[in-house]
Amino acid sequence: MKKVLSIVSLCVCLAVILTGCAAAGTTGTAPSGQDGGSQKKLVMATNAEFPPYEYYEGSEVVGIDAELAKAIADKLGMELTIEDMAFDSIIASVQTGKADVGIAGMTVTEDRLQNVSFSTPYTESRQVVILKEDSDIASVEDLTGKTIGVQLGTTGDIFAEDIENATLERYNKGMEAVQSLNQGKVDAVIIDMMPAKVFVEQNEGLKILDEDFAVEEYAIAVAKDNTELLDKINAALEELKSSGELQKIIDKYISAQ
Ligand code: GLN
Repeated sequence: MKKVLSIVSLCVCLAVILTGCAAAGTTGTAPSGQDGGSQKKLVMATNAEFPPYEYYEGSEVVGIDAELAKAIADKLGMELTIEDMAFDSIIASVQTGKADVGIAGMTVTEDRLQNVSFSTPYTESRQVVILKEDSDIASVEDLTGKTIGVQLGTTGDIFAEDIENATLERYNKGMEAVQSLNQGKVDAVIIDMMPAKVFVEQNEGLKILDEDFAVEEYAIAVAKDNTELLDKINAALEELKSSGELQKIIDKYISAQ
């Protein structure tokens, strides 16, 4: 690893020297010194099916996470690129360096910590149960033996696995699970609270069960060996928290309730 690093720094030094020579060699108007256009990219892996954290508005991915990522990239002087993918591909793409960060309403879990590092949390959430308004399910207990829709690879999926005798239907998108609930193919959907609220608003005849599961924390996933980026992100997050900017972004998408 050290060897790789020293080769990289050698190349960087050479590049700096060569650039210096080239600049010195040019007469007249030299480039402004800003390496315009070559700003370092911050590639964010997400699954843009998770309102209000990430979703499409036309062809653009918007939402709390998209704006948070933009604010962090701005602070780090980086240019944000968003890569939309299946939720269960995000960790792998961060691990393999295809993306620099995973920002996807992603809950910090012990399992995920085996594969990636997480920033300090930027918000809290909960898992909730979506039901049809006329459902006979009145508590989490009543989910025993039921057919439950979840989004593949999410913490909702993990919780549902512990429900006795339940049959799990796994979907790529939370919205697909909700459509199945509408069609009577599943009895309940377990998903994060804020997306649940959006889905219930968008679909008539649904409600959220009063009882919910444990509190979760969302954080930004970074490759384990990229401690430099992790530190920078944590510092940027700290600034965004203390300046009130993070809260402003959240408030823009989540109206007071
Ligand atoms: N918070 C959940 C998880 O991390 C769901 C995230 C999502 O579907 N985008 O598993």
